Amino acid sequence: MSIAEIDLHSALKKYFGFSGFKGLQEEVIKNVIEGNNTFVIMPTGGGKSLCYQLPALIKEGTAIVVSPLIALMKNQVDAIRAVSDNDGVAHVLNSSLNKTEIKRVKDDILNGITKLLYVAPESLTKEEYVDFLRSVQISFMAVDEAHCISEWGHDFRPEYRNLRHILKRIGDDIPIIGLTATATPKVQEDILKSLGMTDAVTFKASFNRPNLFYEVRPKTKNVDADIIRFIKQNEGKSGIVYCLSRKRVEELAQVLQVNGIKAVPYHAGLDAKTRVKHQDMFLMEDCDVVVATIAFGMGIDKPDVRFVIHHDIPKSIESYYQETGRAGRDGGEGHCLAFYAYKDIEKLEKFMSGKPVAEQEIGHALLQEVVAFAETSISRRKFILHYFGEAFDNETGEGGDMDDNVRNPKKQVEAKDEVKT
Ligand code: ADP
Ligand code: MG
Repeated sequence: MSIAEIDLHSALKKYFGFSGFKGLQEEVIKNVIEGNNTFVIMPTGGGKSLCYQLPALIKEGTAIVVSPLIALMKNQVDAIRAVSDNDGVAHVLNSSLNKTEIKRVKDDILNGITKLLYVAPESLTKEEYVDFLRSVQISFMAVDEAHCISEWGHDFRPEYRNLRHILKRIGDDIPIIGLTATATPKVQEDILKSLGMTDAVTFKASFNRPNLFYEVRPKTKNVDADIIRFIKQNEGKSGIVYCLSRKRVEELAQVLQVNGIKAVPYHAGLDAKTRVKHQDMFLMEDCDVVVATIAFGMGIDKPDVRFVIHHDIPKSIESYYQETGRAGRDGGEGHCLAFYAYKDIEKLEKFMSGKPVAEQEIGHALLQEVVAFAETSISRRKFILHYFGEAFDNETGEGGDMDDNVRNPKKQVEAKDEVKT
């Protein structure tokens, strides 16, 4: 073991209390410390944060971390502060700070105390901040959730579009590390180009989730009864049921409650207090099931979610993967059951009709992949992994028999014929 490696392990232990690296972390961290542009593709929960946090703590200067969600930034800053003896080690720079707070942040950076500076992309459009950051020592820049820069991603954010120019203004030769959980080759290419780092060393972890069982069933007008039956067969287990609309969330939550299932609704139309209450009930196991729109899940870390049901098929394979990925985080069983009717695809197409043509075309292409996935008779796992640019052999690969098409090869989903709602 080289000295560098020993140092990394003791730094990992010292700052985070972990006894070993997960997956590709160590290789990634070495690459960042060497000052190379780095691109990290790992599924959610893979441990991406550490890939920039540890190098930031080790390297001279301050690392700028661009992240889209203020709530997630705050969580990370709190976590880093908890392992350091100085609160100034990490700061958030955003529009909510007053003059005194801004001065504190700047002083801590100038004094070399701040190792991680989290910023929202829109804060970086402020001349004052850019000018300041140009004048201090920046170790590297991390762009978390880098898929937000791509229109081909499931979560495109216009504020990310100008990032390349802003980062270049802060410093032309400062290394960049981009991180994402979106694995499609198209989005990856977009990220590398948009951030101007086609020379980056890429680290991609496998997206296979061997403990998840994938199943798609035709959606009939009895879908609610089907869902109730499934939940009752899994009594006492925690699960999430995703619906497209808030209205459907409310209705289905009630139907489940009437049927004796401990379910609560969750969507962005509920007031903050109710949302927090329902989320906590789920985490504390005061209820078994959350019926939710996609508003539920970001940053929720319940390891023993045993099933994820899609009452409505999602708008892309990435969304499906993210949402089903909330099952079985602890490595235990996770049943992913999606109900599919072609009618729902048409509904999703209709939702997009008011959008710009380019966006519609992308949305349409993503939906076609969903149709192909729902109607395929090949292994669901193989399909998903292939979509993410990963070869999978069901004979030798982990979880090779964990989907409906592999278990019952003759059955075909022909939802087109069956649904007359
Ligand atoms: P991602 O951003 O890829 O979704 P996170 O950075 O949020 O993942 O990490 C997911 C979880 O894994 C966190 O709870 C983190 O503390 C934990 N983790 C990360 N690296 C390690 C490690 N080397 N050993 C143990 N746990 C780790
Ligand atoms: Mg992350």
